[in-house]
Amino acid sequence: MAWFKKDKKPIQPQADKSRVPEGLWVKCPSCSQIIYNKDLAASLSVCTKCSHHFRLAANDRLKALFDGDWQEYDKGLTSIDPLSFTDTKPYRKRLESSIANTGLQDAVITATGTIQGVRCSMAAMEYGFIGGSMGVVVGEKITRAIERAISERMPVIIVSCSGGARMMEGALSLMQMAKISAALARLDRERLPYVSVLTDPTTGGVTASFAMLGDVNVAEPKALIGFAGPRVIEQTIRQTLPEGFQRSEFLLEHGMLDMVVDRREMKDVIGRFLRFATVRHAAPAQVAVELAHAAATTAGEEPGT
Ligand SMILES: [Zn+2]
Repeated sequence: MAWFKKDKKPIQPQADKSRVPEGLWVKCPSCSQIIYNKDLAASLSVCTKCSHHFRLAANDRLKALFDGDWQEYDKGLTSIDPLSFTDTKPYRKRLESSIANTGLQDAVITATGTIQGVRCSMAAMEYGFIGGSMGVVVGEKITRAIERAISERMPVIIVSCSGGARMMEGALSLMQMAKISAALARLDRERLPYVSVLTDPTTGGVTASFAMLGDVNVAEPKALIGFAGPRVIEQTIRQTLPEGFQRSEFLLEHGMLDMVVDRREMKDVIGRFLRFATVRHAAPAQVAVELAHAAATTAGEEPGT
């Protein structure tokens, strides 16, 4: 007989349910509805029956939020594997396969464009690239996106979708938390707005730094948001966690978020906030231009008054 026996079964890791499978038809993991692929794309990868939010690629995210075209920056930045790291396979090989699979050089796209007419700097993270993890390149690209916003006086939007810091880059990846937070502090001193959009999942070093620093923190419904994952917490405290723990609605209820917004309404909500925030913080000259424009429009609409 063994001396030690485990009383409880070890907690099984959850299968990754939210990837959109290939093929013409997709089965919703939440309500089992069979959805035609094109219908799903038309509804921004949200189930038309139960509103389950499938995970969205970074490029589709920009398409969903920007009015039209956007200009991408720092497209060619790529990690140089500073630690020559190897776990189950070399980090260099992981990078190569992620670049081949996603067509991106790292786990974030940074771009400028307009949302309902307001020009802004946006960063959207790509979960398909090593779990959307934040390494040196992600940190540098997001920092540059913020600095671009400061120099051109425009708001910042960061859409997080990440497992946290990239452990294959060790302490260098953790330093990105401080670097991005410092850039956001400079943005704040310039009185420019920052909207943080948290999507499923937003965990680890990303939650612990820029994802929670927004002037408004907006999340998609039922997104997993936390520092350590629920499995790690359960194993540490040896208790079953409450229903819906670490999901958007739970966090909203406990004051960690400002809003939970359906993806199909996200653009409207962000656009409304940006118009409100940028008029208030715009330079006096810009306010004058906008007032003149408003006056001209009113005059055009009501001749004779
Ligand atoms: Zn569904």
